[in-house]
Amino acid sequence: MDKQHRLDLQALDAAHHLHPFNDNAALAKRGTRILDRGEGVYVWDSEGNKLLDAFAGLWCVNVGYGRAELGRVAAAQMERLAYYNSFFGCTTEPTVALAAKLAELAPGDLNHVFFSNSGSEANDTILRMVRHFWAVQGMPQKQVFIGRHNGYHGSTVAGASLGGMKGMHAMGGLPIPGIVHIDQPYWFGEGGDLDPVAFGMERAGQLEAKILELGADRVAAFIGEPVQGAAGVFIPPDGYWKEIERICRKYDVLLVADEVITGFGRTGPWFASQHFGIQPDVMTLAKGITSGYIPLGAVMFNDRIAGVLKSRGGELAHGYTYSGHPVCAAVALENIRILEHERVIERVQSDTGPYLAKRWMELGAHPLVGEARILGMVGAIELVPSKPSRRYFPDRGTVGATCRDLALANGLILRATNDAMLLSPPLVISRSEIDELVEKAWKTLDQTATTLGMKTAAA
Ligand SMILES: *Cc1c(COP(=O)(O)O)cnc(C)c1O
Repeated sequence: MDKQHRLDLQALDAAHHLHPFNDNAALAKRGTRILDRGEGVYVWDSEGNKLLDAFAGLWCVNVGYGRAELGRVAAAQMERLAYYNSFFGCTTEPTVALAAKLAELAPGDLNHVFFSNSGSEANDTILRMVRHFWAVQGMPQKQVFIGRHNGYHGSTVAGASLGGMKGMHAMGGLPIPGIVHIDQPYWFGEGGDLDPVAFGMERAGQLEAKILELGADRVAAFIGEPVQGAAGVFIPPDGYWKEIERICRKYDVLLVADEVITGFGRTGPWFASQHFGIQPDVMTLAKGITSGYIPLGAVMFNDRIAGVLKSRGGELAHGYTYSGHPVCAAVALENIRILEHERVIERVQSDTGPYLAKRWMELGAHPLVGEARILGMVGAIELVPSKPSRRYFPDRGTVGATCRDLALANGLILRATNDAMLLSPPLVISRSEIDELVEKAWKTLDQTATTLGMKTAAA
């Protein structure tokens, strides 16, 4: 792209386009980065820079960029039948095939699918359907959802309310009534002197305390991300999820696993619930379901919930124009076919995942890194002013932003959340690309340390 064309696009963008999760005034001044094309784990920007995308777009491009097969099935479906709705007692072949495929892949008796266009809409769907599930059984007061501070469940009114992001709640008067939050199992930041497992049990125990405080007859569900993503890749301590599951069962509170990031191989198995050995009653899917090639979200319900909704639910007064969109379904099916055919999940579990973990954990030895953590292909490093303490930098977020910008200049895309650098590469990343990623990250850490006047061993 020539320079004048890029400058024109940036001017139009600044004039007409409001960017999500950005300070738009600052962005307009700085100029948007325009991405131009992608191939495998790499993207190229409009200035011709080749960038290793260690964040898979936004946690989603699991099969990597430039997959012509996905474009071909989308085009073929558009030519055959571009759209039909699922409202008037109708459906389409790819929609049915995808529902059946998801039922086969999802753990246990999560055999029933409701389609949305995004993870946020899927979580809105869950709020309404779960409340309806209890109401039609004569328990209209069993309505409260328990989420977690710093959880992320999307940006719609219900999604942002179920999530526990303070900044999001501040915009638009959230959370809506009937949603409360407990503390997150973030050992590095909040574990104090407790060992991780004891800390995890303490945090899970807050769920039981909250249920008892509200009364179990008022609590509809608990929702959590198996690994908190947007908060900073918080991998809960061993035992945490089993304890959460035990408490949910004890009080007949539905367990909702928001697997929007963790689904489709991100943590190793198809779903992170399988890694943690839990059986959710409801599961949220999006992102990796199409590797981000086209928007799609889905809710998986278990036999119990679907059975009640079908037998006693009456008309389901909920749905989206594009619920079960045939083109999105066709792309999702092809994306899943690629994951299976190329044995991507198996490779992440037995080869490239362990290799990435080994190399990523090496970064933990850097003087700037207080902790490195990873599960499957999602991880983080916490930047700290001194080791071995778990203290933060005083001006939280500045060092992370510096590190992110230096990484970009080195041809590496990492996300910064506060002073944690987040990792979530395409699952098809090869060993040599992993080496390149870790070498660039180490060099970037050295440069970041230099800007802080920190001494590092010459690389
Ligand atoms: C991204 C995300 C969502 C929201 O999905 P959208 O498609 O952006 O609406 C929900 N939950 C989790 C865990 C997410 O990471």
